[in-house]
Amino acid sequence: MTNLVTDVAETVDANPDSAAIAYDGTELTYDEFWEQAGQFARALEDRGIGEGDRVGIYLPNLPQFVVAFYGTLRAGGIIVPMNPQYKAREIEHMLGDSGAKAVVALADLVPNVLEVQDDTDVEQVVSVGADVDGATDFDGFLADDTKDVVDRADDDIAVQPYTSGTTGTPKGVLLTHHNLAFTTRANADVPPGGFQASDRLIGTLPLFHIYGMSVVMNGAMYSGGTYYPVPEWDAPTVMNQLEDDEITIMFGVPAMFNDMINQPDAESYEFEALRFANSGGSSLPIEVLERFEELWGVQLNEGYGLTETSPVTHANTDDARRKGSIGQPLEGVEAKIVDSAERSSADRSGGDEPPEDEDFDEVPRVEEGPIDEDEADLHEITGELVIHGPNVMKEYYGLPEANEEAFTEEDGKRWFHTGDIGYWDEDDFYYVVDREKHMIVTGGYNVYPREVEELLFEHDDIADAAVVGVPDDRRGETVKAFVVPTPDAEATPDDIKQYCLENLAEYKHPREVEFVQELPRTTTGKVQKFELRDEGDD
Ligand code: AMP
Repeated sequence: MTNLVTDVAETVDANPDSAAIAYDGTELTYDEFWEQAGQFARALEDRGIGEGDRVGIYLPNLPQFVVAFYGTLRAGGIIVPMNPQYKAREIEHMLGDSGAKAVVALADLVPNVLEVQDDTDVEQVVSVGADVDGATDFDGFLADDTKDVVDRADDDIAVQPYTSGTTGTPKGVLLTHHNLAFTTRANADVPPGGFQASDRLIGTLPLFHIYGMSVVMNGAMYSGGTYYPVPEWDAPTVMNQLEDDEITIMFGVPAMFNDMINQPDAESYEFEALRFANSGGSSLPIEVLERFEELWGVQLNEGYGLTETSPVTHANTDDARRKGSIGQPLEGVEAKIVDSAERSSADRSGGDEPPEDEDFDEVPRVEEGPIDEDEADLHEITGELVIHGPNVMKEYYGLPEANEEAFTEEDGKRWFHTGDIGYWDEDDFYYVVDREKHMIVTGGYNVYPREVEELLFEHDDIADAAVVGVPDDRRGETVKAFVVPTPDAEATPDDIKQYCLENLAEYKHPREVEFVQELPRTTTGKVQKFELRDEGDD
């Protein structure tokens, strides 16, 4: 049986007195953390909330998140994590759709919950950080007694996150105990020697998102390491903490690593205890990877995953890695690149008629990646990345059409469509070219923004960059680059355009380059391209 809670219960037995969570100068031992989780579970039970009921968690990274998370699971409940940046209207969808009965919210966010409470099934609102009218204070909510772990089957749902929603209405993703326990274990094997009870993991990735939740928090609690929640990203603060708390493991997104290497005093930091760093969530520019390694002498390995796959499917490791690759599939996870995506590209470009039957043929592997995209015929070697394995979600909640689209049955296996375009090589390394929906079709040519972005990152005057397609009367779409210049940049937008023209096929170069102070990003570091597109449209 693989179950998130029973796994952690075993860790607690083995390490009762070690620090489970360290925050703001205080520590909770495994015994103390587990006791609080049990008290939270009992408090839910006392209010008639139990097996199969949803509990929303609407908090930044704080110890109470971890307690509420495992407390809900101990009671047999299902967690609906919600981004603390969301406003009332956004959480209304999640609370309404999931039918959550309770919400644990930061005191400042409680008014948002109360605003929508009448339109949802929420009966209990628990406030963290201060007393708020209409809510019960977290400490007061905890019961005097604890509740034993409620048995849940492997196939029972543990967490119902909503996909990041950089486009469209967020969908509830049903992740089972088995999905999450499998991924937690498999991912904990990625660093050399695996996660250890002596590890100290920095919690910079938001816990409402599957990456921070599953990889970092569940990983720490499963291995007996110490989890250091960080409520808000601030590069210098985190860099000092990496030194002071002798952090050994850091998972982050490229925007965080880019921020770190761009600190003016970056060279003065020494992360002596850091033994493993991993980037995921969006593509890691090779420039950023190399600078990080040059500065701090720790390998920065790229991984890949999605909410729907709990999340990790691929990772580079210290022993097996290729720069520019998302790595090899985790043990037990199957992946392949198939030509099914071409159907939608044809749809989008308004070109050839889409094939009548969905193709699902494997695309041939290249001998060894990464390939020079300029020279390769991308059309021949790329396709959609599809995944089969114990980490793949049960389904989207209450969305039969989305489920139909998301899966293809073949040879008795259920393959999940990631919507990412990539290729693979003969050593089983995978390369993500871009998200299918980000592809720009300009004058009949396909341009993957990522390739242009990689080139921009190589320019000394550019600190950050994103490329989108904007409508164009003649070409359908045209390539536009949003560029954050470095503080001492001398290049003008025209210089950048020229630089791209010199290094890329003519049709790929951005016809427009706009300098901006920062890029709109989600808290998980993804550029909100739809916002840039709307802006570019003005
Ligand atoms: P989410 O569901 O929020 O975790 O987003 C999943 C998406 O993030 C994937 O479908 C990819 O488009 C993107 N992503 C994650 N990791 C990587 C990576 N290493 N390289 C490129 N894209 C990535």
